[in-house]
Amino acid sequence: MTTIDSASALRYVDTEYLGHKHLIAAGIIETDDGLLVVDPGPTTALETLTRKLAESGDAWADVHAVLLTHIHLDHAGAVGTIVEKAPHVQVFVHERGAPHLARPQRLLASARRIYGDDMDRLWGAFEPVPDENLTVLSGGESLNLGGRPFEVAYTPGHAQHHVSYLDATTGTAFIGDVGGMRVSGAGTVLPVMPPPDVDLPAWHDSIDTLRAWSPETLFVTHFGPHTDVDDHLDAIDTRIDAFAEAVRAALPEDDETGETDAAAAFAADVIDRMHEETPERYWSAYERFGQPRDSWHGLARYWQKRER
Ligand SMILES: [Zn+2]
Repeated sequence: MTTIDSASALRYVDTEYLGHKHLIAAGIIETDDGLLVVDPGPTTALETLTRKLAESGDAWADVHAVLLTHIHLDHAGAVGTIVEKAPHVQVFVHERGAPHLARPQRLLASARRIYGDDMDRLWGAFEPVPDENLTVLSGGESLNLGGRPFEVAYTPGHAQHHVSYLDATTGTAFIGDVGGMRVSGAGTVLPVMPPPDVDLPAWHDSIDTLRAWSPETLFVTHFGPHTDVDDHLDAIDTRIDAFAEAVRAALPEDDETGETDAAAAFAADVIDRMHEETPERYWSAYERFGQPRDSWHGLARYWQKRER
């Protein structure tokens, strides 16, 4: 069944990615024209998403559109397969992401360099989305989807193809990865800062954009709704700088062995702090998906592109 969060009256599905709870949440919104699904996840999670929709009486035929915050595989991987099943579904995506959905060869080649032989097990198929199914966004749009008003904002920093959506009816902002990872019920707000797009000034601007919406609820993909909006945004604002500064200070000059050790030390530190802040039942979700080593590499690349 889909979960309905009692604090925010928000419907979402735990896609139980690779059998693990609290990793990838797909938002579900009802409109007069059918359902909207926000960030359906990768194809490896699609069977569970489809089954849970069915348990609530819904099928892909009842889905009007998919709203993507960005095109990373853990958010968007299933979208081409969904459109194959349900060719009427419109896919909303930022203009910098849209070409990669229509022609995913380059995106998949770079993902395969990262994940290698594990690519298929982790993410499954990434089918192209026909151009006619794409609704391309720049940010700044006001949408009416099945009688329901939404605002769209361009929110780069984590990824240059990232948008956020404000569901004006409930005051819920679907913010993808701009707000980092935070499991509903857990305290820790953990920035996820992978290569290649990390951009600190843009990220801070995006947080300001979200604040200006004054949302009632933040919905983060990893994982779920949070109603302490100001505290959450303050935490991510502070932590992206703290992560960036920790990496800058530890980044060795031209020394790959030194970097491996420094990355490991950074990751261990992040996990230790998470353990201090968060009840043990949530640890495994953060350990699986918090990806501090990826954040190290994203920030190392960020600093290497600049004079430190
Ligand atoms: Zn992402």
